Amino acid sequence: MSKNSPCIRCGKERIVAKSWTEYIGASLVTYTTTVCPDPECQKIVDDQLKKRKDKLETIQRESLRRKVENKRNRKTKKKK
Ligand SMILES: [Zn+2]
Repeated sequence: MSKNSPCIRCGKERIVAKSWTEYIGASLVTYTTTVCPDPECQKIVDDQLKKRKDKLETIQRESLRRKVENKRNRKTKKKK
C-alpha cells in the first residue's frame, strides 16, 4: 500500500474517503481519495485546490486562445 500523505494544511494524517478500482487498458488500477480528518480543514484545502485549478484552467484557456488568434493573424496577414 502507498504511504498516507499528511494534510498539506494541518499535517494530520489524511484518511481514505473513497477507494475504487478501474481498468486502465488491461491493468487494474486502484484509486484512493484521501481527506483531512478535520472537515473544516478539508473544506479549506478543497477551496485552495479549486482556486489553483481554476487559475490553471484560465491560463490554459488564455494560451490556447492566443495560439488560435496568432494563427488567425498569420493567415490574414499573408497576402497572395
Ligand atoms: Zn488538515
